[in-house]
Amino acid sequence: KLHNTILELKGNIRVFCRVRPLLPEDSTGTDMVVSFPTSTETLGRGIELVQSGQKYNFTFDKVFNHEASQQDVFIEISQLVQSALDGYKVCIFAYGQTGSGKTYTMMGRPDSPDLKGLIPRSLEQIFEASQSLKDQGWKYRMQASILEIYNETIRDLLSSHRPSGNDQTKSENSVPGKQYNIKHDANGNTHVSDLTIVDVSSANEISSLLRQAAQSRSVFRTEMNEHSSRSHFVFTLRICGINEKTEQQVQGVLNLIDLAGSERLSRSGATGDRLKETQAINKSLSALSDVIFALAKKEEHVPFRNSKLTYLLQPCLGGDSKTLMFVNISPDQSSTGESLCSLRFAARVN
Ligand code: ADP
Ligand code: MG
Repeated sequence: KLHNTILELKGNIRVFCRVRPLLPEDSTGTDMVVSFPTSTETLGRGIELVQSGQKYNFTFDKVFNHEASQQDVFIEISQLVQSALDGYKVCIFAYGQTGSGKTYTMMGRPDSPDLKGLIPRSLEQIFEASQSLKDQGWKYRMQASILEIYNETIRDLLSSHRPSGNDQTKSENSVPGKQYNIKHDANGNTHVSDLTIVDVSSANEISSLLRQAAQSRSVFRTEMNEHSSRSHFVFTLRICGINEKTEQQVQGVLNLIDLAGSERLSRSGATGDRLKETQAINKSLSALSDVIFALAKKEEHVPFRNSKLTYLLQPCLGGDSKTLMFVNISPDQSSTGESLCSLRFAARVN
């Protein structure tokens, strides 16, 4: 149980680093450029990166080496996920360059018991736990939404969702007139106009929503090259619990976010849409970093309004909400520069 107590003892922002294994497609075929000097286990706290003979050391709340399994990672976040059922607002982000393992960490292979990532694992745990809390009188209403933010614009990934019985599948994402305006009410609830919200009561239902979201995303992807790595993917589960014996109420939120790739695209080469895209990603990732940094430093002014992502998540980032940032690292030689940038980004918010 020790591994989870740290989450409770320290503040509300955590940074975990995960290094993926070298892959056959990593071109150089040399050794990893990162090592784990303070630990011989899959889980430690230190990571060292070597660039041009220079050593850079970083410490995070947890560091998972290339041998950590999906289950090894999930064990370390399960208590955080559980706290959404207790009424906390939780955000879990995956940050890193394209190819560093963000989607593997968040989604993994949803149909594989060993390789599924933390989104399917978290949802299974939430539904299992909510079932067992029934005995104590708890009843839950759960609502899911799935969106992406591309070029500072929200797209509803469930807009083709219809309650069963209607087979309309055409995506309405590009229909003009849908505004997706973000509003926060006095109770700290977020409302996005026109966004599809689906009542869910099992992990299976959510799996089918995730498949549907992936399909909407792939429609965009053909419209826009490499689209998925250029947009933020945001899964949100709202949890309303009421205890019929004690009349106690809780309202938790679990946000699971697969961020756009953090790689610096050369500004000089990019023009038109590509340049706009790059600027939007840079803007929103640095806005996220600024917000988390300000929260970690307990600064009075937190610049939530500087990007769609931070504004959308505002109620789930401040106050007594809980935030976890995974920084995903590619260990191959050719990624060294980007890996160093990611580690520095994470060290800043750590
Ligand atoms: P990203 O979403 O950051 O672009 P991906 O999650 O798509 O990166 O990962 C890139 C590749 O590396 C994929 O082929 C993925 O299966 C693989 N990969 C990532 N992390 C791991 C890991 N921890 N173990 C094994 N393979 C991984
Ligand atoms: Mg990805």
